[in-house]
Amino acid sequence: MSSFIRDTCTACAICEGVCPTKSIFPVGEKFSIDTDTCEECKLCVSVCPVDAIIKLKPPGSGSAA
Ligand code: SF4
Ligand code: SF4
Repeated sequence: MSSFIRDTCTACAICEGVCPTKSIFPVGEKFSIDTDTCEECKLCVSVCPVDAIIKLKPPGSGSAA
């Protein structure tokens, strides 16, 4: 997993519209990211009005968790 949408997501769908790989999709009343297709462009992070999208450290980068 490399990207994650927090519970603060208001489901405004702005991120879904800007994602070039269509990796963001609605799940219930929130949105989620398909980490298999996400290319880490971070566009979604920059457009989210409530900073709900956070990037996690890449695999093997150390002792996260
Ligand atoms: S980082 Fe880019 S590719 Fe990944 S979900 Fe966000 S907008 Fe889509
Ligand atoms: S832009 Fe932010 S608040 Fe809007 S749907 Fe995406 S994650 Fe949720």
